[in-house]
Amino acid sequence: MNKRRIYTLNGLPPEVIAVAFAKCSRSPESFDKISKELNADLSRKFHERWVVGYGHSSVAEHAVLSLAIENVSVIATKVIEDNRLASYTEKSTRYQAFDKDRVYRPTGLGQNEELYNETIDYLMDKYEELNVKMRPFIEEKYPKEADESDRFYKVRIDNVLLDNTRYILPAAILTNLGMTVNARQLEHAIVKMMTHPLKELRDIGQELKDAAIKVTPTLIKYTKKNDYIDNSAKSLAKYTEDLTADIIPSVDESVELVESDENPEDKIIAALIFRDSHISYGQAVEIVAKMDISKKSEALAIAMKDIGKFDAPIRELEHAYFTFDILVDYGAFRDIQRHRMCTQTNQLLTTLHGFDVPDEVNEAGYSNFYKECMEKADLAFKEMAKDMPHEASYIVPLAYKKRVLIKWNLREIYHFVKLRSGHGAHPSYKSVAQQIYRIIEKKYPLLAKHLVCDLD
Ligand SMILES: Cc1cc2nc3c(=O)[nH]c(=O)nc-3n(C[C@H](O)[C@H](O)[C@H](O)COP(=O)(O)OP(=O)(O)OC[C@H]3O[C@@H](n4cnc5c(N)ncnc54)[C@H](O)[C@@H]3O)c2cc1C
Repeated sequence: MNKRRIYTLNGLPPEVIAVAFAKCSRSPESFDKISKELNADLSRKFHERWVVGYGHSSVAEHAVLSLAIENVSVIATKVIEDNRLASYTEKSTRYQAFDKDRVYRPTGLGQNEELYNETIDYLMDKYEELNVKMRPFIEEKYPKEADESDRFYKVRIDNVLLDNTRYILPAAILTNLGMTVNARQLEHAIVKMMTHPLKELRDIGQELKDAAIKVTPTLIKYTKKNDYIDNSAKSLAKYTEDLTADIIPSVDESVELVESDENPEDKIIAALIFRDSHISYGQAVEIVAKMDISKKSEALAIAMKDIGKFDAPIRELEHAYFTFDILVDYGAFRDIQRHRMCTQTNQLLTTLHGFDVPDEVNEAGYSNFYKECMEKADLAFKEMAKDMPHEASYIVPLAYKKRVLIKWNLREIYHFVKLRSGHGAHPSYKSVAQQIYRIIEKKYPLLAKHLVCDLD
């Protein structure tokens, strides 16, 4: 019997790794032997024939790139991160301060350029001013603990301070982002960026391509603007405008369950029975139909028993779906958007839904100062949005609310509610996590029993 071997191919160029894996489909040789016989030229020829020529695109998933993306706007990060099959880490607005020099200033704004720059400069000045003004209040509210070092105390105070003042920051602030992605997904992401209405995104798409082709020259090939994406976006925008022009957007609920499965508990329990039996799903459904509440509760308790602090619940929780319409400040939206095991539909950032005022800004007595900033940004946004709605979103402060429609399964809700209500959570998205928990608790108490939520 051949001895089991497990090893990495890391260190080889990503395109060579992709070919070495692809060849195992037809070759009896080991991966290291296959890869030894490959060089960049042979790999390129293979990819040109199979991946590019025959559309065997999944091979490109074995070529992985880690891209350092620096000084891109917050607006751009959300478009980049909308590609779910990738990993990201970005500079935090909660742990780092921003300044006037690190703001995106687009070209080609024409008559809006002066208004744009004036508004951005104003908001950045006010952000810095509020950081100075609020510090004594925060220090008094959170005194230094006896055993706390000066350094740690400063970090703690900075964090609370920035959690409050970040609301004033415009979405044009520049940030850094690390992205790890495979070549297949990256090519698709670049196509979407090349088709985007914002020049910044089209430029980023081109620069991503320039960086990636140095490492995977054959696999990042078809990156032109996509007519289908472009035309459908434009036609749908026109179609929707006609339908909704006279409707005032509702701002009643910040978290609303708009759709869910009829009997999510039954679906999950039927899937559990299906998993460990040889009966059909229909037969499992028949068993569940005869169960009373206590039997259903018992089934779910067995499935969730012994779950540890860092464990993900079993996969069968994915058989129940819930769609939430969430209206939340853009700062918190940025965090919520990072969850990938779901389907998100986003609206353009606007000032139409109003803004949030952090409790501590009120407590510190700066609500008028803060509201003035929001009003000035709102006026500038409305003026600019008349002819440049996409570019106008750069000047919207993170305090303004935005809508997102998210469809996720119960397993992801479990993860979201636990993570986003837990230690270190920002009050804004924590409130969203708590509201989701309460809605599920009210409608599906059997399921809520097993969700972990810090309701503090
Ligand atoms: C207190 C706090 C502070 C944070 N600070 C920062 C920060 O400063 N900067 C920053 O960029 N982010 C920060 N985050 C965001 C965080 O790192 C995650 O990116 C975000 O919460 C999404 O959650 P998730 O990665 O667990 O996965 P989700 O996208 O929600 O997916 C659910 C689960 O699926 C699995 N999964 C999904 N995709 C992959 C994948 N590609 N590879 C492997 N497993 C996957 C994982 O098990 C994951 O937990 C912070 C989060 C918290 C709670």
